[in-house]
Amino acid sequence: MRRSVLVIYTGGTIGMVEDPATGALVPFDFAALKKHVPELERLDLEVESIAFDTPIDSSDIEIHQWQALAGVIEANYEKHNGFVVLHGTDTMAFSASALSFMLEGLNKPVVFTGSQLPIDTVRTDGRENLVTAVQIAGMERNGEPCLQEVAIYFGSQLLRGNRTHKYSSEDFYAFRSPNYSPLAEVGIHIDLNTVRMLKPKGTFKVYDQMENNIAVLKLFPGITKEVVQQICGAKNIKGLLIETFGSGNAPTKEWFLNEIQHVIQRGVTVVNVTQCNDGFVEQGRYASSRGFAAMGVLSAADMTFEAALTKLMHVLSYCKDEDAIAKGFLEDKRGELTTFSSLV
Ligand code: ASP
Repeated sequence: MRRSVLVIYTGGTIGMVEDPATGALVPFDFAALKKHVPELERLDLEVESIAFDTPIDSSDIEIHQWQALAGVIEANYEKHNGFVVLHGTDTMAFSASALSFMLEGLNKPVVFTGSQLPIDTVRTDGRENLVTAVQIAGMERNGEPCLQEVAIYFGSQLLRGNRTHKYSSEDFYAFRSPNYSPLAEVGIHIDLNTVRMLKPKGTFKVYDQMENNIAVLKLFPGITKEVVQQICGAKNIKGLLIETFGSGNAPTKEWFLNEIQHVIQRGVTVVNVTQCNDGFVEQGRYASSRGFAAMGVLSAADMTFEAALTKLMHVLSYCKDEDAIAKGFLEDKRGELTTFSSLV
């Protein structure tokens, strides 16, 4: 029996065609996927497709669409060997990170892809992205799927989903995974880096709750007390991500540290994530981050902003007290984090 792959279309540029009447980009009828990408017929795979009722620009993505996506994968888990999610590039790194935490014990590939140019344009990057993503989602070795995690395939690279960041709104190589090398490089061959891939742990389970009462405080030189107070004082927040400088550094002014201390006393989980793309937060390395460590601010280490945010959404939904939240956030759940033991 041929292996089968389910392609799930959520929206984004890849699935749009020019409306001949208006010239505007509109989603095409996904039932006609193979008409637009006849190459899919030539793969030795059964390719089925399903589309969200209302395909969206990914800038509009909400928690309920992540839940719907996890639901489609769960409902079709036994039927297919792998899944490809067609998604707009703008928030693909957020959705891939979110799904990595929502899907525990995954032992099949979930490959996100999309494109910078619509699929029916002459120079589209969508055709290669889609065909290779489907091929990777259908690949097996010794009866096991080759990939058993959530990944992004884009611009000839297969990247771990929760390590990825949209880097360019122009290049066909739109994504980077600065702190984790690619899971595969694609040229003439699909060169899988199997030692870098996750091994499945436990049985497959979907965690579909994501707490979105979260605020983000991006630091900049000269930030005022009023702005910090407004963000820290936002009603009902359960989590606060502080986007810090360098290796996790922040102002040492008393008023600033007092604001952070107050928000922690209100029971809000505070996370320190660096504004740098590369490298990691190391609280206490400089005096300017020592205060955070003493207060119980959690270090996002080398997680991307997207991974830190969605992991916080996940742990705040399932961990009920402060210690469990800290433990859940600081441990490596789905390969999103380099632990010190894996660095040495
Ligand atoms: N705005 C589009 C989206 O993210 C861009 C894209 O698909 O690349 O849905």
